[in-house]
Amino acid sequence: MIRIVVIMAKIKEKQQFQIELAKYLAEKDFVYGPEPELYDPVAGFYSYGLLGKAMKNNVEAAIRDVFTKNNFFEVEMPIITPEVVWKASGHLDGFNDPVVICSKCKASFRADKLIEENTEIAADSYSDEQLIEAFKEHEIKCPTCKGRFELEIKRHSLMMKTKIGADTVAYSRPETATTTYLPFKRYSQFFRGKLPFTVFQIGKAFRNEISPRQHLLRQREFTQAEAQIFISKEQKQKFDPFLEIENEKLPLWTEALQKAEKKPELISLKDALKKKYLKNQAYAWSINLAYKIFLSVGIPKERIRLRQHHADEKAFYADDAWDLEVELNSFGWTECCGVHDRTTYDLTQHAKFSKQDLSIRLESGEKIVPDVIEIAFGVDRPFFSLLDIAFFRRDDAKRTVLSLPANIAPMQIGLLPLLKKDGLPEKALEIKKEIEKQFRVYYDASGSIGKRYSRLDAVGVPYCITVDHDSLKDESVTVRERDSLKQVRIPIKELTQKLGQYFEEGFE
Ligand SMILES: [Zn+2]
Repeated sequence: MIRIVVIMAKIKEKQQFQIELAKYLAEKDFVYGPEPELYDPVAGFYSYGLLGKAMKNNVEAAIRDVFTKNNFFEVEMPIITPEVVWKASGHLDGFNDPVVICSKCKASFRADKLIEENTEIAADSYSDEQLIEAFKEHEIKCPTCKGRFELEIKRHSLMMKTKIGADTVAYSRPETATTTYLPFKRYSQFFRGKLPFTVFQIGKAFRNEISPRQHLLRQREFTQAEAQIFISKEQKQKFDPFLEIENEKLPLWTEALQKAEKKPELISLKDALKKKYLKNQAYAWSINLAYKIFLSVGIPKERIRLRQHHADEKAFYADDAWDLEVELNSFGWTECCGVHDRTTYDLTQHAKFSKQDLSIRLESGEKIVPDVIEIAFGVDRPFFSLLDIAFFRRDDAKRTVLSLPANIAPMQIGLLPLLKKDGLPEKALEIKKEIEKQFRVYYDASGSIGKRYSRLDAVGVPYCITVDHDSLKDESVTVRERDSLKQVRIPIKELTQKLGQYFEEGFE
């Protein structure tokens, strides 16, 4: 009984945080919606606002940077795709969610999500029987009208159907990955037949969710970043880039640790292979790359864990699957990225349906269909995570401040003339011309200096430059750091170099 009360209190606290966060993000121009706000909003559709879009671009740039530095090539494929592609991939037949219908108001909801929201138990791998059992046991009621549910699970397809021309059935892609596989023969030529081929795509995907109620985490239209490694079985075992990172440590939460209700184990990749937590070097390297991406966008280490999928949770073709989870204040531990060994499944399916040869010849002369290891995530999730974490810590004793990572914050530098006269704006604009060659600068001359500081703190601007009367005499300005509130006086001619240093190495 006490346990239930504690869980209910925790759920309430999270829900309250979700509401406050969503309100803040809309008011501060990060995320608007559900859209269209002007008419009748539809759940699961959000806009990135005047500051949110800039920040999302920065998140994508950080992701792109990690992939390209690790030899991945970026592609961009059409979103609308003919039916046959999704028959081949298996999505048309198998990509659906379990749904329950309220017997009173007839609204439908995703069964596993309702269980999760009411009990904090992850139910996404439950069978239909287990779902019904959980509904009975926890007496889950309709969130809209408090009515009872019909105890029957229906299947709801997540595919968004559309039409090409007059009558050709097509779908908006539910993931980017499948579309990345299609030009395999082109890749094969480009890489001159030498595996591994490494390719990634960042772009929109669509899922016709039944009742999305988790803000940016569950949208009907969202942005994915998915990287694919086409590789042979031998290369998976002996993967040279692995040697450079084999001593790096990751918080691995194996199936055994989960069952024993123990914490993740911080373990080197080398030892994780020895203990057979991970199956091969290439997979270990991929999981480390996913971890690096989340660190590089600025998610704190202590909020990340890597959770191994249970045997019954994996896709039937997957050889290995782990999720990278981030601990959020609004939704608890949340899946933000998946690393999947998809084996030869996709290429085999597309070879079969297209009646084309999607194999390649190894140097040994042997002909094979390559395996695929995939690093897949929605860009919206690290974006949302950063704001969730920054918003949680927002209240300093005297002010509201979003401590976003400096390289991800939507605006990098606030440029503020102390007064709107005495030649200070002119001096500031002169400085702007110089520093905006390297930084995104926001010029703001109106209102008291204190008010301007707090406006910029509240949206996470890491550095503010103030131009005052002394600046006209000594050719120096004051730079103020957002979190520590420390101020330093810097000669204007050294400004670009100093700021570059702050963004690289942090504030002295
Ligand atoms: Zn109802």
